[in-house]
Amino acid sequence: MIKTYVGLGSNLGDSRQIMAEAVQKMAQIGSVQASRLYQSPPMGPQDQPNYHNAVVVLETELAPLDLLDRLQALEQEAGRVRLRHWGERTLDLDLLLYGNEQIQHPRLTVPHVGVLERDFVLLPLLDLDADLQLNGQSLKDLEIVKQSNLTVLADANWAAL
Ligand code: ATP
Ligand code: MG
Ligand code: MG
Repeated sequence: MIKTYVGLGSNLGDSRQIMAEAVQKMAQIGSVQASRLYQSPPMGPQDQPNYHNAVVVLETELAPLDLLDRLQALEQEAGRVRLRHWGERTLDLDLLLYGNEQIQHPRLTVPHVGVLERDFVLLPLLDLDADLQLNGQSLKDLEIVKQSNLTVLADANWAAL
């Protein structure tokens, strides 16, 4: 079993419901535990709604690209349409960490490029493991974590697993 972390984001449709359904479907891939649910301002284009964000820890035997395939299928099932870079979407599922592996593939970079710079990824990761480290760096000690004031929308039972 590999411990993986998947970031979820949504800012179109009933985001909380869409994300909860995705988490429930992920529970068919392996054991799943969800972070709290957050609200964050958009990255990139500012003329789009705020995001709902969360992270789940997923223990699975799927190989990295097979897991990516499953995550992209779930995005499609949620009706994701690509409108513009970093634009609005019903569901974004990013593979943040896959065990301790470093992966450089045309379709998959792990750890995900945004992990260390995005508070809406770091805070939910720390919900799931307060002592999580990346490349020897303790995530809770990052300045962006200390300065973040993200809104918490719901505690960890939002996904109703
Ligand atoms: P960002 O990756 O900066 O959060 P995004 O999530 O909006 O942006 P997408 O449109 O969801 O980007 O994905 C673009 C491509 O990124 C996908 O086709 C996928 O193959 C690739 N990709 C590379 N690494 C990863 C990863 N770790 N998790 C998910 N997709 C990835
Ligand atoms: Mg993303
Ligand atoms: Mg993505």
